[in-house]
Amino acid sequence: MTYPRKHLLAIEGLEPPHIADLLDLAESYALLNRSGKTQRDLLKGRTLINLFFEDSTRTRTSFELAGKRLGADVINMSVSTSSVNKGETLLDTASTLNAMHCDLLVVRHGQSGAPSLLSQKVDAAVINAGDGTHEHPTQALLDALTIRRHKGRLEGLIVAICGDIAHSRVARSNMHLLTTMGSRVRVVGPPTLIPAEAARLGVEVFHDMKAGLAGADVVMMLRLQRERMSGGMVPSAREFFRFYGLDAEKLAFAKPDSIVMHPGPMNRGVEIESAIADHPTRSVIGEQVEMGVACRMAVLDVLSRQLPRNR
Ligand code: ASP
Repeated sequence: MTYPRKHLLAIEGLEPPHIADLLDLAESYALLNRSGKTQRDLLKGRTLINLFFEDSTRTRTSFELAGKRLGADVINMSVSTSSVNKGETLLDTASTLNAMHCDLLVVRHGQSGAPSLLSQKVDAAVINAGDGTHEHPTQALLDALTIRRHKGRLEGLIVAICGDIAHSRVARSNMHLLTTMGSRVRVVGPPTLIPAEAARLGVEVFHDMKAGLAGADVVMMLRLQRERMSGGMVPSAREFFRFYGLDAEKLAFAKPDSIVMHPGPMNRGVEIESAIADHPTRSVIGEQVEMGVACRMAVLDVLSRQLPRNR
């Protein structure tokens, strides 16, 4: 198993063997989870703190479950009731966490770079659970694992990432991971929602859904992140759906065996029609959640191997 770092702050910079090894380990955890077994001695005596400055359902719960399945003591720090709201700085929070001998720190923050800043100040191994519009590395890992399970590989696949690319840390982490692993990545959306850096990231840009989906193996829809938009970047939800919402008519342009993904939470009827989101064979959205637990177990496992035994 090769993993070169103390923290997992981003996918950018990881090399194919690091990603492939993490996915292989996650696959073994997926099988373990399905068998109903646990491995509670692995993180016994370790403390995992979930520090979420932004809302989350799937990510926080799955880190909690992943930590518990491996035997860690898991604490969810609720930021709305913590001293952060009383004006404590991120760095004071870091000293508090050090004093508590936290081993693994999972951080979600509205500012890009906040987990990286914390990682320089805490003794714990830090995992970025989503920072601003920057990255969400464990989401990209779980997406890749889900794709690999359905398609058997990542290399050579056409993956269309659609919708609000500009505000999406999920899109950014996926662009890094999938291009690193040899997929052909397309981003599809209105010009206002495509970031300028897309070309630098080695992806193809489309503004028309039907052209962007043509021949795709994987169709990944994203949530329209209105909370991160300043001003009117899209006309209205109805207009957006007409041009960029995934329905049967647009999906017909992708390969007949293509899979449909969404990181959640979904805006049904805005970026995806309910019938497609719940499609029994094409939608793998439920499996993405399942693979999220397995991938987070793999990440906790790998990072814990590099921690000092006794703090
Ligand atoms: N749950 C994902 C994230 O935290 C996607 C989203 O919020 O739309 O980035």
